[in-house]
Amino acid sequence: KLSFRLATVANYVPKNAKLADIGSDHAYLPCYLAKNAGLPFAIAGEVAAGPFQSAERNVLSEGLSEIISVRMGDGLDVLKHEEVDCITIAGMGGALIAGILERGKDKLHSVKRLVLQPNISAISIRKWFLENDWELIAEEIIEEDEKIYEILVAEKGEPGKPYILAKKEQGLLLGPFLVQSQNQIFKKKWLLEIKNWQRIVSQLEGAAQTTETNQKKQEILDKIKLVEEALNGEE
Ligand code: SAM
Repeated sequence: KLSFRLATVANYVPKNAKLADIGSDHAYLPCYLAKNAGLPFAIAGEVAAGPFQSAERNVLSEGLSEIISVRMGDGLDVLKHEEVDCITIAGMGGALIAGILERGKDKLHSVKRLVLQPNISAISIRKWFLENDWELIAEEIIEEDEKIYEILVAEKGEPGKPYILAKKEQGLLLGPFLVQSQNQIFKKKWLLEIKNWQRIVSQLEGAAQTTETNQKKQEILDKIKLVEEALNGEE
């Protein structure tokens, strides 16, 4: 059975997609979609030998070798041109995911949808979308086993459109859709972040005061203010 986190990612993969799941590890996501949702074709990409072998084993033992091609390589290097129309990348940091997309740009021409699940730093992905003409079309924030995850879905379009809803800085950090709906998990995540930042601020106040520490402190205080305003519904 798929984790709730990966099941949420799977929900956003279109029914007849030709999928690439990059950093697929055990290939759980493409196997699930091929078995349960009639996915016709998938590539499971992995850069590390152990996870690559584990993906190969799973695909073979599930009898899905005709549908899922398991390939070893870095990011989108495993794709030939125009091979897929949907890409999922889950369970890595946002900066790493944005780096994979940036390096693999020339493989994105045929891709209509990106479904991404950063463990941290979703802001790196939202910034990359803005700079590369991808329009964020949906976001979710979920909790599983005491961990909070964000899922970002984008299609080619008007990158600035979602940010009409919210103040741009707030939207980039918190998510333009998530900041609108503000469910309990969203509130929990950002109250925890604020606590964490406040701890760092008091540590910085205890350290020697240099231009650098003061600057760092001010940056964090600005972020706290931005998030508090969003939580209080101020724009
Ligand atoms: N996607 C699965 C999930 O969400 O459960 C696995 C997540 S696992 C924490 C991250 C995987 O990404 C690891 O197996 C790692 O080897 C792989 N990975 C990291 N950087 C990669 C890259 N540049 N290209 C392909 N795979 C990568």
